[in-house]
This record gives sequence, structure tokens and C-alpha cells, in this order.
Amino acid sequence: MGMIQTPELLLHKKIAIVGGGPGGLTLARLLQIKGVEVKVYERDHSQAARVQGAIVDLHFDSGLKAMDATGLMEAFKDNYMQGADKYRLLDPKGNILFDEGNQAGKPQFGDLQFRPEIDRGALRDLLIDGLLPDTVIWDSQFLSMKEVDNIWELQFKNGTTATADIVIGSDGYRSRIRPYLTDLKASYSGATIIQGEIDHPETACPEFYKLVDQANLMAMGNSATITAQPRGDGGLTFYAASLYPENWVKDSGIDFSNPQDVHEYLINRYGDWNPIFASLFKACNHFVARPLNYFPLENRWGTKSNLTLIGDAAHLMPPNGEGVNLAMLDALDLSNCLINKDFTQLSEAMAAYEKIMFDRAAPLCKETIESISDFAAPTEESVQNLIKMLGKTD
Ligand SMILES: Cc1cc2nc3c(=O)[nH]c(=O)nc-3n(C[C@H](O)[C@H](O)[C@H](O)COP(=O)(O)OP(=O)(O)OC[C@H]3O[C@@H](n4cnc5c(N)ncnc54)[C@H](O)[C@@H]3O)c2cc1C
Repeated sequence: MGMIQTPELLLHKKIAIVGGGPGGLTLARLLQIKGVEVKVYERDHSQAARVQGAIVDLHFDSGLKAMDATGLMEAFKDNYMQGADKYRLLDPKGNILFDEGNQAGKPQFGDLQFRPEIDRGALRDLLIDGLLPDTVIWDSQFLSMKEVDNIWELQFKNGTTATADIVIGSDGYRSRIRPYLTDLKASYSGATIIQGEIDHPETACPEFYKLVDQANLMAMGNSATITAQPRGDGGLTFYAASLYPENWVKDSGIDFSNPQDVHEYLINRYGDWNPIFASLFKACNHFVARPLNYFPLENRWGTKSNLTLIGDAAHLMPPNGEGVNLAMLDALDLSNCLINKDFTQLSEAMAAYEKIMFDRAAPLCKETIESISDFAAPTEESVQNLIKMLGKTD
């Protein structure tokens, strides 16, 4: 990287990216290949810490576009999960309503419809492998910062400190960087999911595992949705989503750290569903309850020249299949603005990025909130609409 001319605005500037998720790591790579001095401060103790959640699919005009810009597309092609980009939709009785398996003429890289799936851990690893050694500083849980003579002084939980000229918050839905830009807090969407992780589904719930068939399973109806997806390590992640009052997780009296408690609740709640779902719940010994929150639509802050946010930290919304893609696209847009020679001031580059980011995220968030019931309390009509939508991606 020695021959590269550092972009004018970032010459002799140190950039601290707080949070090494897909957004932060993509940004680090995009800036580093332009010769920018960058560090990523990540809360996880090491790269070996398991990344929560299952596979994610990258989209042509967002995640894949950003991946292409990182120059790591070959590594992505070596690591994505072939064949996992298909959907199987069931009703609560277990009838298959839609099945994308075994279709001829499947889309490939370069096709607009192709949405290759990758394990979150594999995505993180390949982005980290694309960085210079020691770019990610592990075990660095950001606590606070203060600005002294135009330099940010960052304080981490492990007692260490760091300085930077520019700070980018990519620390996800509970961002600790966000309060330095806005007081706006997250709102509740109306839906909560109970997430379950099963490490050995082939033995713990073999029948259900076969039904998932290494792809995306969704079961919808009776005011709830269950989705299940494989993990890259052979495990299985599932989400049981429904509409619940705010604070239900606390008020329900369920101890989510006690699997028996959760089994009892879920088996009762899904008592009128096909028993194969009860077998899934019983096979799971690790649950997390997640109220789905979002940052309100009037979520805009006054631009600062040395601080901004990307990804969930900027525009948390309930899962709509776009979160990782948006975080990576924010990274691409921010790096493009920062290296753009048309901008002579950092504040102009930051304002240009934030306009692109907000204009994109706000309508999407609105749409996701407005259709939260289609996901968490689907009607016959919403299921039929989903089938039509999935059918279009054939
Ligand atoms: C149940 C569920 C399912 C989803 N499914 C999908 C899907 O299928 N497809 C999709 O595209 N999106 C999906 N999403 C959304 C997606 O997970 C997020 O939008 C995406 O991960 C955001 O990326 P990010 O880089 O902004 O933040 P994150 O991925 O949240 O990464 C933040 C990083 O910051 C670190 N961190 C946090 N706090 C600190 C701190 N104080 N100091 C230092 N480091 C810190 C964290 O450890 C983490 O590594 C889903 C979300 C949920 C909840």
C-alpha cells in the first residue's frame, strides 16, 4: 500500500472506527486501501469470539457492490454458502406453501437477483483478513470520549485509551457513540423475537433440520412467524416473532436464560402448530429475547466534521433483510465522500455522506415499521403477497 496517495482530506489524520461489525470492517478496508491510517476498536475479546446470528444475504446494489469495492470479491466467492439463497415457506400446520429448492437456471454473480448467503462469522473473517495486521484492536469496549484541541480521546472499559482525529461509530444498535451526535433514543416497533441457537440440529431435531435443508425456512400464520436458517458451522438459528407489548420480555416473567422456562412458554404459545415446531423448541438450549427497536424517522443530527455513524448505530430498524447490506453501503458511501477531491472541507464530505445515508434509510425504515405486522402477525393476504414476491426472484 506504500505507493498510494492518501486522500487530501485524510492526510495525517487518524481514524478510529468503533465497532468491528460488517459496517466498520468494510469501512476500515475501504479506507486502508486508500492509504488512510485507521484502527477498529472492537468489544469482542478476540476474533475467535463467535458472531451471533445466522447467515446473511448480500444484494447486488448494496452489500455486493461494497464487497466489490473492497477488492475482496474472490474471498467472498470462496466463502459464501452455495445453494443457501433459497426459501421454503410453510403454514403453521406444516404444509409447504412455496419452495424454491431444486430450481433450474438459478441466478449467479452478476445477476441483479442473485443474493448469495454467507455466514456472519465467515464474512467477518474475510473482511479482517483484508486488513493490515493489528488494525482491529480487540477487547476494546468503548466507554466514553472527549474532544481536546480537535483530537478525540477515547476511553475503553479495559482501561486503555486512544486518540483520533475522526471517530466513526459502527457499534450497532446500542451505540455508545450515537449520544455524542443526538439524544434521540430507540422506539419499540411492536414486535419481539425469541432467538434460539442449536449447535447440533442434525441430532437434536433431525426432522426439522431436514425441512430447513440448508436454506431459509419461514413458517407464517396464526399471528406469528418462525424463521430458521443454517449457520456456517453446522448449527441452526431460529427466530420466533410475534407482536408483544413493549417491555413484554421483562413483564412476561419468563426467565430467558432458563431453557425449560422458554420451552414451556413456546410449546404452549405454538400449541396449535405442527408438532415439528415443538421439536425445534425442545432441541434448543440457548435463547435470547429481542424486542425489535428502531431509530425514529426524524432521526437527523447536526453534521460534525470529525464524527459520524454508519449501519445500525445510525439507522436501526427491525430486520428486513437489508441491515448488513445497508451498513456496508454506508461504509462505501462514507469512504467515497471522504476521498472525493471535490470536497475541500471534512464537514462538506460528512454532510454529503449523511444526506445519502439518511435519504436512503428513512423511507426504508418507514416501510419496515408500517409492515411490521406482515412479518410478526401475518394475515392470509400478507402470506400470499410474500409468495408473489418470492416468486419474482426465481
Ligand atoms: C434477528 C435479526 C436478524 C437479522 N437478519 C438479517 C439478515 O438476514 N440480513 C441482513 O442484512 N441483516 C439482518 N439483520 C440486521 C443486521 O444484523 C444489522 O443491521 C447489521 O449487523 C448491522 O451492522 P453494523 O456493522 O452496523 O453493526 P453490528 O453488526 O451490530 O456490529 C456492531 C459491532 O460493534 C461492536 N460493539 C458494540 N458496542 C461496542 C462498544 N461499546 N465498543 C466497541 N465495540 C462495540 C459489536 O461487538 C459488533 O461487533 C438482522 C438483525 C436481527 C436482530
